[in-house]
Amino acid sequence: MNEKWLVGVDLGGTTIKMAFINQYGEFIAKWEIDTIKESIVTDIAKAIDAKLEELDQPKEKLAGIGMGAPGPVNFATGAIYEAVNLGWKNYPLKSHLELETGLPAVIDNDANIAALGEMWKGAGDGSKDLICVTLGTGVGGGIISNGEIIHGVNGAGGEIGHITSVPEGGASCNCGKTGCLETIASATGISRIAVEAMKEYEKDSILKTQYEQTGQMTSKMVFDALAENDELAKQVVDHVAFHLGLALANVANSVNPEKIVVGGGVSKAGEKLINPIREQFNRFVFPRVGEGASIAIAQLGNDAGVIGGAWIAKTKL
Ligand code: ZN
Repeated sequence: MNEKWLVGVDLGGTTIKMAFINQYGEFIAKWEIDTIKESIVTDIAKAIDAKLEELDQPKEKLAGIGMGAPGPVNFATGAIYEAVNLGWKNYPLKSHLELETGLPAVIDNDANIAALGEMWKGAGDGSKDLICVTLGTGVGGGIISNGEIIHGVNGAGGEIGHITSVPEGGASCNCGKTGCLETIASATGISRIAVEAMKEYEKDSILKTQYEQTGQMTSKMVFDALAENDELAKQVVDHVAFHLGLALANVANSVNPEKIVVGGGVSKAGEKLINPIREQFNRFVFPRVGEGASIAIAQLGNDAGVIGGAWIAKTKL
């Protein structure tokens, strides 16, 4: 069969994930390179050429590139409005990538392509109305309505992580506001809340003991302690689930999704996290919206971005 391959690229702060994927969403090759701020586009172009040579294929084998990048993206022009960590401001990523690789390219925000990846090959399971929330060091979001990402007027659609969860007196967020969902439901947020909750907690606790012994607190420690029925850990997770369930219910009430997909490192906690979220979600969701929606754990892990990249290359070029 002589079908063309799609190139999926997922640009992160430390690594760039890359893949050749066929039209059916199957991996031909998957690899990653280091993110070197000064030479991102050139490095991607070189990596594509090197991989083609390794596989003994001509450039004509590739249909084009779909790439996810951090920060808000102008989907029409493929420019990045701003990516603070990469030092980009109004950076014409699509133009540079096309010039350097000789291939057509389409660019979207990294959380958005992860959502598209889950829609195509992951927990979306055929659904075209989907909310995807990624709980990692931050909280990312992607909203898909009738198969299309909601970009909004200047690329900030679907920023679920910056929904205000604590209107007054919340913790500071990287975006400049306070009280964002990200300050509560990210890995960093969970560990901050655990440390705060500990100060008020007077009984014995596995979590407390571990913190005293190691001098550190992580979201993984919280979920491990929860697995042993630690009361303090349960309080922390319930607090996080309350805010996630509330925010997701409000987003769901606006877009009436079929699936709500929870991904990112924190989602490895699985049902221990999803069950309390589901409970809170059901409290706050408009009943008819609740009937139509199910909450699931993301299935693609770190592959979601490159698969979503391949999807936009397949459908938008
Ligand atoms: Zn924020």
